[in-house]
Amino acid sequence: MELRTRAVHVVNEPLGDGSRPLSVPLVQSSAFAFDSAEELAAAMAGPDGRYVYGRRGNPTVRSLEQTLAGLEGGAGAIAFASGMGAISGVLLALLRPGDRVIAQRCLYGGTFSVLSDLAERYGIEVVYVSGDDVAAFEEAAVHPAARVLVLETIANPTGQVADLPGLLAAARRLGVTSVVDNSLASPVLCRPLELGADVVVHSATKYLAGHSDVLAGAAVFANDGLRRRVWPRTVELGACADPFAAWLVLRGIPTLPLRMREHCANAAALAELLRVHPRVTAVHYPWQPSHPSYDHARKVLSGGGGLLSFELDGGRAAGRALVERVRIGRLALSLGGVETLLTHPASTSHRELDGAALAEAGIAPGLVRMSVGIEAVDDLWADLEQALA
Ligand SMILES: *Cc1c(COP(=O)(O)O)cnc(C)c1O
Repeated sequence: MELRTRAVHVVNEPLGDGSRPLSVPLVQSSAFAFDSAEELAAAMAGPDGRYVYGRRGNPTVRSLEQTLAGLEGGAGAIAFASGMGAISGVLLALLRPGDRVIAQRCLYGGTFSVLSDLAERYGIEVVYVSGDDVAAFEEAAVHPAARVLVLETIANPTGQVADLPGLLAAARRLGVTSVVDNSLASPVLCRPLELGADVVVHSATKYLAGHSDVLAGAAVFANDGLRRRVWPRTVELGACADPFAAWLVLRGIPTLPLRMREHCANAAALAELLRVHPRVTAVHYPWQPSHPSYDHARKVLSGGGGLLSFELDGGRAAGRALVERVRIGRLALSLGGVETLLTHPASTSHRELDGAALAEAGIAPGLVRMSVGIEAVDDLWADLEQALA
């Protein structure tokens, strides 16, 4: 079945009496009762027995895990309290002191912080390479301590798309476990496990849930051995998904393919209109032929996604004025929801950086990031035009 059919029919186990509710039941219980100590002990043996305690598993959470495993083409999944919970949980489970991580240079800020902390406090070496440089990765990965490769399908805010087929094949060959953050593409636009990844991580807060009302995350595994290796660490870390959060993500998934279609169509249209606007000096959207990742994007994605960024000729002041003048788009830090959001990194997330430091981070002073929502594109463009004017 096609993905949009599978997305509508999320995994939903029948009730004990055989009834089959159409909506996944929300089992908001922190613990589960048993008749015998023996049964309870047996249930504690692993991730797939009867439910015992919320941190170890929950029926609503398991529905989400199995649904995501199905959509990504994985053997299994673990749901987390947030995307950062998933990233931290997976990295802590896979790494030991002395190991080497190889990561793409253009990386989500939270992931960069985790890697910096692992390097500083736990003796893990982190080597950064460009997301399209297979030779540089191979050089770093032939080292005997090389353990994990960290990539993103679409990086933020530049829209850089990694050379997933090249890097993932090399990682396989060299015995390095690959972890791909697929939050910005979602399984609708890319399924990294099909391209050879070992683990896919998600901020389900973004497109999977899609309505800016829940924090959640997930890791999906290519084989069950990996899931069983990460699961005990997850139980210890305690960054497990809350059942209601899992329920809200499950509520969003049936419309994920429809939403992604609209996000992509709106973003592509706006990117083209922005490209020829006199106040705009650059547009970064991987579905445009002028984008440096265009060839990789056409190979690994089935659409350009909903995130774009653009640079204004008036520098810092112009970027800031724009995000304060839009009326439909909102100034907010998240992305991937149905509503259009804008941020101006130079006056918000990166305000501490001077011109030189901004340049080193690859962020122009007048750069505006836009998470394009599913509103009517004519309304979004009219809003941008008045703000640009
Ligand atoms: C938001 C985001 C995260 C972190 O997810 P949270 O749910 O906020 O913890 C990780 N990776 C990417 C690419 C993101 O956009």
